Amino acid sequence: MKLLDLIIVGGGPIGIACGLEAQKKGLSYVILEKGPIVNSLFNYPNNMQFFSSSEKLEIDNIPFISKEAKPKRDEALEYYRRIVTNNKLNINLFEKVTTLSKDGDHFETITNKSNYSSKNVVLATGFYDIPNLLNIPGEDLPKVSHYYKDPHFYAGQKVAVIGASNSAIDAALECWRKGAEVSLIIRGPEVGQRVKYWVRPDIINRIKEGSIKAYYNSTVTEITQDEIYLNTSEGKVALPNDFVLALTGYMPNFEFLEQLGIELSEDERRLPNYNPETMESNIAGLYLAGVICGGMETHKWFIENSRIHAGMIVQHIINKH
Ligand SMILES: Cc1cc2nc3c(=O)[nH]c(=O)nc-3n(C[C@H](O)[C@H](O)[C@H](O)COP(=O)(O)OP(=O)(O)OC[C@H]3O[C@@H](n4cnc5c(N)ncnc54)[C@H](O)[C@@H]3O)c2cc1C
Repeated sequence: MKLLDLIIVGGGPIGIACGLEAQKKGLSYVILEKGPIVNSLFNYPNNMQFFSSSEKLEIDNIPFISKEAKPKRDEALEYYRRIVTNNKLNINLFEKVTTLSKDGDHFETITNKSNYSSKNVVLATGFYDIPNLLNIPGEDLPKVSHYYKDPHFYAGQKVAVIGASNSAIDAALECWRKGAEVSLIIRGPEVGQRVKYWVRPDIINRIKEGSIKAYYNSTVTEITQDEIYLNTSEGKVALPNDFVLALTGYMPNFEFLEQLGIELSEDERRLPNYNPETMESNIAGLYLAGVICGGMETHKWFIENSRIHAGMIVQHIINKH
């Protein structure tokens, strides 16, 4: 088995940035991605518009041209795919890393297809695979989803959207515009402050005019085939319901991190231990890149502020060898 300088786990924007940087600096590497290129973005809602402007999503200063200032999902797919194909990056798609261990100075990586040996590993696995569960009865019904794709599916249906941030608000507005009867269930007293600045007035006005019914300071306690039950500030409420979109956020795969021996902070943030100057974790040669670095604080790291991780990591690897 060839000993590689670097294995990159995850072919999202930041894993790709790491691969590109490693290639430019002459390191031997492979990116292992369990799905298609930029799998998380591929699974985002079809009509999703980024809150970042396109130049902030660029990697390696490769221009990202979009029709509007804030690009859409399909433009981002096009952009990152072209970077991979034009630069002939070494990326193995639909190859999932199942086990990663350190043996002396080297890492052994086992996937569903092969085994690899490397001097260094970058974990750029993001947070989009594991939803924050509500842990209530009925959450496992087929009508409940933690991911939203397209509004057409919900036309003419009674849809409860749970959440107050961008994903929930985009889904509520889109479904309502395609003819769904939408209830929005929000745990706090208002629509999230981080909702895109051009979307927030839209949802607030739809709620004010009564087009979308919002339940503030409310939690869902149970989901059944035909109804959902809420605890609201005015007491218990039962709503007739066909579909539930529980868009309450996502979290990194902490189990995977802990199995590798990466230390996590003991508070609710569960921040992984890494050196912010090199991105090296508490395990020598094992680096963290991209949104995985934020632990439960998934709003802390984005493409726009974590794309610099690639240069930091590759430079550190070069310096130490
Ligand atoms: C709806 C939404 C909108 C967003 N909008 C913006 C925005 O406007 N601007 C911005 O900067 N950020 C935005 N973000 C955040 C942004 O998507 C992430 O910052 C970005 O995807 C992070 O890139 P990443 O490479 O760190 O992780 P990801 O893109 O999540 O990539 C991780 C990759 O790892 C792969 N993977 C996971 N486990 C394994 C395994 N065991 N083996 C192999 N592969 C694995 C996954 O399939 C995935 O492709 C948004 C996020 C969401 C959810």
